[in-house]
Amino acid sequence: MIVAPDVLGLIGNTPLVRLKRASELTGCEILGKAEFMNVGGSIKDRAALSIIRKARASGALKPGGTIVEGTAGNTGVGLALVGAALGHPVVIVMPRSQTDEKKRAVRLHGARLIEVDPAPFASPNHFVHYSRRLAEELNESEPNGAFYADQFDNPANREAHYEGTAPEIWKQTDGRVDGFICAAGSGGTLAGCAAYLRERNPEVRIGLADVPGAALYSWFTDGVLKGEGSSITEGIGVNRITGNLEGLAVDHPYRIEDAEFLPILFDMVKHEGLSLGPSSGVNIAGAVRMARDLGPGKTIVTVLCDAGQRYASKVYDPAFLTARDLPTPDWMTGR
Ligand code: PMP
Repeated sequence: MIVAPDVLGLIGNTPLVRLKRASELTGCEILGKAEFMNVGGSIKDRAALSIIRKARASGALKPGGTIVEGTAGNTGVGLALVGAALGHPVVIVMPRSQTDEKKRAVRLHGARLIEVDPAPFASPNHFVHYSRRLAEELNESEPNGAFYADQFDNPANREAHYEGTAPEIWKQTDGRVDGFICAAGSGGTLAGCAAYLRERNPEVRIGLADVPGAALYSWFTDGVLKGEGSSITEGIGVNRITGNLEGLAVDHPYRIEDAEFLPILFDMVKHEGLSLGPSSGVNIAGAVRMARDLGPGKTIVTVLCDAGQRYASKVYDPAFLTARDLPTPDWMTGR
């Protein structure tokens, strides 16, 4: 019998899928790591599992202790299901601006959800600071204490990708990977995969797909942290060097506008049967740019972080798009 011992066995070991149009367009093999196939529906299940396993092992999280985290949503889903499987109550803090679908997903995995108004990182009301304070308070008041997952600065996040995502990619491609690119939220995926792949082959090129409003593109091109503009994406775009990003070097930084990745995202639905979240669109757009810079014949891997369903009320809603002067595909409007 081949049986997963529990729900935690349904995290990781995701397939790689060839992205047909992106590959044909560029003459490269552009491959997507199908992270939407994790049990909680996103790449962040891996980080959640790694953070909680390591916190339990070190004693930072006690048996029955409460898990607290601030998140755009996907980490909250991962922590909710990992916490439930291991006997921990989970409290999730999310900015109100994130999709209802993600908020519901957090709740229907059994976590308590607290919504806060969006605030700049410098404000004490930013969801990261709010959740850290809440963890400190609950650590005093809860019988088994509380643990702050701290996905942005806890290295157990990037280790999930160094120990899981990247070795899987290496094996699935027989080591024939020329480039890896993705966007950064906490930076765990990018930094963890970059470290492992470069260790295996120092020639592997690492790309960053950054969105307007995020500061990493300017950091890796000019050495200054400057974020201008905005993006309709969620879960990506960071304005500081998080603990997980520390020490990362990027060979190919790109800035990807909404108008650049949306047609790619919608083509994926129409022509490849893959309905993905907006960060996956940014990642594929970045992979296409990187393929043009590296030249034909290369193999470039990117990440399909979550599925379109989580954004039905936004990126997949024609009214949302037209209100922002963004392209709406015919299949979406039924025309
Ligand atoms: N895409 C989505 C949809 C996400 O939720 C996240 C994490 N917030 C990311 C990409 C970025 O992943 P990471 O935190 O590893 O940088």
